[in-house]
Amino acid sequence: MGAEGVVKGRNRPINLGRYAVSPGRRLAAYSMDIIENRIGILRDVAQAAAERGGDILYLHLQVSEGGEGTIFLILDATESALDFEELVEELNEIEGVGNVDLILPVREGLLIDTLNFPAYVGDRRVAIMRDVLLRSAKDELTKRIGPEAADALLYNIGFEMGLGAGEDHKKIARSVGIEDPKDVLELVTVPLFKTLGYGEAELRLSRQGGEIRLYRNIECEVAGVAGRASCSLIRGMWAGVLTSVLGREVSVEEVRCMAAGDGYCELKVVQRA
Ligand SMILES: [Zn+2]
Repeated sequence: MGAEGVVKGRNRPINLGRYAVSPGRRLAAYSMDIIENRIGILRDVAQAAAERGGDILYLHLQVSEGGEGTIFLILDATESALDFEELVEELNEIEGVGNVDLILPVREGLLIDTLNFPAYVGDRRVAIMRDVLLRSAKDELTKRIGPEAADALLYNIGFEMGLGAGEDHKKIARSVGIEDPKDVLELVTVPLFKTLGYGEAELRLSRQGGEIRLYRNIECEVAGVAGRASCSLIRGMWAGVLTSVLGREVSVEEVRCMAAGDGYCELKVVQRA
């Protein structure tokens, strides 16, 4: 990996906190506007919660260049007598904080944030596909049309997705002065693949082709041990993104796969004539 700033072996799982399931716990969430940001606003919010015995399980803050923003937090008040409504009043009085909304669990121990919508990553709108849905989609497709046809279909869908992703990666790269296709792949495509949760990738490209190693690739993790190479969608996505960024058509085959019992997935990049 040529990218600077990559610290290997220090991955920390991140919970995006859109909902919490904690049976038997007394939970609440607060969603508030920042009307004028100032240094210390987060400290004051956290302090107000802490003083009343609220244990912060999750915290999200975003502020725009103009100084407006939002704070969202999930509290566990099982061990305290915290009055959720009273805390709304108190948060409201903090300088710079505007409207405060309280989100209560739909049933004890089940809290879902229905106020912060839609979700974005960067400037792109996202919908989060959980592993259970991906597994169902793959299983059902395989059951209906057979494994070989399912793999071919997923590869082709992935390829089109990859072409779209590649165009977006080039645009992001250009906006910060990255032009060289290899740099686009190393500095944008590979890090985005990881930060968006698909997996960790290592690229070794040559003129004739090359290889891609994928660690903890989500598509193969949900496949379990299928006994055969199973990352058709992701494989197609890599073929598409490479085709778009390199500007020449490549196809990608899977030579090792977690779902076939290997420790990682390995893709072989083949230059198309
Ligand atoms: Zn695989």
